[in-house]
Amino acid sequence: MMLITRIKIREIILIFALIANSPAYGSNVFMPGNVLFSISIIALTVTFLALAFVLFKYLQQQKKFAQLMLSEQRLKSTVEGSGDTLWDWNIRSGEIIRINDKFNMADAPKGKIFPNQHCIHPQDIPMVERLLREHFAEKTAFFEASYRIRNSLKEWHWVLDKGKVIEKDENLNPVRMTGIVRDISHLKTTEERLNLFAKCVESLSDAIAIYDAQFRLVDLNPSYLTLFGGIREQYLHKPFTLPGYDARYIEELKLALKETEHWQEELKLSNVSNVMLPIEVTIDEIKNNHGQITNYVVVFSDLTERKKAESQLHDLSNRDRTTGLPNRNLFFTNLKKLGQQGTHHALLVFDLDNFKKINDSLGHQLGDSLLAKLAMRLNKLARQQDTFYRLGGDEFALVMSGTNDIHTITKTAKQFLAAIATPFKMASHELVITSSVGIVLFPEDGNTPEILLKNADTAMYHAKQKGNHYLFFNDGMNEQAVKRLQIENLMRYGLKEDHFVVYYQPKMDIKSGTLVGMEALVRFITPKKGIIPPNVFIPIAEETGQIIEIGEVVLDKACRDVKTWIDAGLFDGRVAVNLSAKQFSLPDLTTRIDVILQKNQLPSYFLELEITEGTVMDDPQEAIAIMRSLSARGIHLAMDDFGTGYSSLAYLKQFPLNTLKVDKAFIDDMNSERGRNMVDSIVTIAHNLELHVVAEGVESADQLSYLEALNCQTIQGYYYSKPLSYEEFTLFLRNHHAKKVTRPAFKVVANGND
Ligand code: C2E
Ligand code: CA
Ligand code: CA
Repeated sequence: MMLITRIKIREIILIFALIANSPAYGSNVFMPGNVLFSISIIALTVTFLALAFVLFKYLQQQKKFAQLMLSEQRLKSTVEGSGDTLWDWNIRSGEIIRINDKFNMADAPKGKIFPNQHCIHPQDIPMVERLLREHFAEKTAFFEASYRIRNSLKEWHWVLDKGKVIEKDENLNPVRMTGIVRDISHLKTTEERLNLFAKCVESLSDAIAIYDAQFRLVDLNPSYLTLFGGIREQYLHKPFTLPGYDARYIEELKLALKETEHWQEELKLSNVSNVMLPIEVTIDEIKNNHGQITNYVVVFSDLTERKKAESQLHDLSNRDRTTGLPNRNLFFTNLKKLGQQGTHHALLVFDLDNFKKINDSLGHQLGDSLLAKLAMRLNKLARQQDTFYRLGGDEFALVMSGTNDIHTITKTAKQFLAAIATPFKMASHELVITSSVGIVLFPEDGNTPEILLKNADTAMYHAKQKGNHYLFFNDGMNEQAVKRLQIENLMRYGLKEDHFVVYYQPKMDIKSGTLVGMEALVRFITPKKGIIPPNVFIPIAEETGQIIEIGEVVLDKACRDVKTWIDAGLFDGRVAVNLSAKQFSLPDLTTRIDVILQKNQLPSYFLELEITEGTVMDDPQEAIAIMRSLSARGIHLAMDDFGTGYSSLAYLKQFPLNTLKVDKAFIDDMNSERGRNMVDSIVTIAHNLELHVVAEGVESADQLSYLEALNCQTIQGYYYSKPLSYEEFTLFLRNHHAKKVTRPAFKVVANGND
């Protein structure tokens, strides 16, 4: 424009000079009074006016130019301040002007298509070219591209380049284009991070759902659809729910979330096909810079696989291999859980009567398959919410969850007993087993699994005494259990403090009325509780195993006492000592007996051992072997309480026995004809087997005369004497020795026993 203005001023001056020097005007053109002069004046005036106009225009133009320069300057500083680069590209010449060339692109060699080409990242060039061509072809109103550019320090920057063609030639080819380049590296890093996060979220195997502040679903990832099924659209904008959980649960969850900003729980959620899945749900709040909640992120982790692996591991340590039932370990864990939750429940405990016998006689393999069959049978009876456990050996437990209804529990107990009692077909055998069930209730009968089990065992123990029965636990049973425990402790103390004393009850020959022997009977004399009768402590001692030690004390003392009587010339018969089943099955029984005999210098000839039917019938073959080795030492063997157990006559023949003791119960029955016949048969059998017969618990003269009539040789009972202490028995021997009286040999009222 300035150029244009300058040209115009020169032209005006030139015209003005031409007119002034024109030959037409001559030298007198300025002469006054002359027409020519008038014309000259007019011409001069016109020229002046024209000159003034031109000057005015020039000044106006100058002002405009200054203003333009100023705004150009302003623009430049604005651009510099913004950090952007302005560019003006002459497309034909390839010339480009840049204001604020931040990336020193001017230093780079110019590209063919685009001046910045050599600075652009090779991967981005095709995209830039395409966008440029599209703009040239007027497909886009603006050229806009974000690409990477390298500065003179060879550092890559992300830029946003925006431009527009501002001039075209007559063929509509772009001639000039201007634009602006902005460094967006910082935005790009953020964007890249966001993309990365988005990609991560997309590819995560956990289902993720994003909700807005009002808990309406904004977005979800593909895993969400994989986990729950369905299509994206059916979830979008819907309020937050957990399938299977009611609105109240969701409200409580939201309240909890408000407090802690984080919520996590393992839930069972159903998918669109109504399959229940174990899912861990985690909810987190997202807040903006002002601390306002903008979103909630909910992560659903499918625990199916983990649960499966866990359960396999769990099974290994919590399941019994034989029956497939959960084991004792799991029993305690689950019972504890129920207790902690305060859930009412019933515990039914039972074991199988005589299972040991089945196991021993038919083999462990058969025993195991019997247990497996039983488990299967009983498991079917359990309700869905009940769990059936094998606690070990032949001991089982049923935990009935969520009930304390006696009717329901009783019904189940009865069903169990009936199912157990139904014969089992095993190989070629048909096995009949019985059981007894002890029942406890939580919380009434105990608040820990240990107490509950102990009380259930106590109830079972009581039920067993009734046989094939079930019993609910009551405190009375516990009193008994406490008593048992007290006795157990007393016995332990008594063994240490020598509170076990031996009494002797004479065995008399009916015909001659002479002493033929005596039975050693233990007495437990405690300083505080006085005498505790054998019927009370012996069964407990048998269960706890203390009977072994007690039995040895009795044998030792009996040998010692008898030795003194023999040495004193008062006695030369046998002392009968009771041998419990526990002692009988000791592998070193004979050695133990040998040691005691030797210690007391008593020949085995003076010893007799009383064994009950139960003891030998557990394993008759083994019993025969043991009995033979005892008998080989010259020790006599007597079958105690004969007729009360289930001896088979076949075995009786094989046992190397010397004596048969007819139980007191038969003697008591002798006032009836039937009773007398019974005793008659027993005595006859014994005689046929060439066994010596002792009648126990003879109290009356009538009984005595009946027995005499039946040819029973030996009598033991209060009729002659109660069991006597060592001192009393010494006295008895002395008197007996002196008198050698006939019946009644000697009547002593014993003090302090029976
Ligand atoms: P048992 O072996 O049958 O002993 C006989 C029991 O009958 C004794 O009771 C005895 O005192 C009692 N008795 C004897 N004559 C009469 C009578 O005319 N009338 C009545 N009513 N009872 C009579 P005790 O001493 O109380 O022993 C009870 C049971 O305890 C014994 O029965 C035996 O099984 C066991 N026992 C006693 N001492 C020992 C022992 O040292 N070792 C073992 N293993 N058991 C023993
Ligand atoms: Ca006995
Ligand atoms: Ca007896």
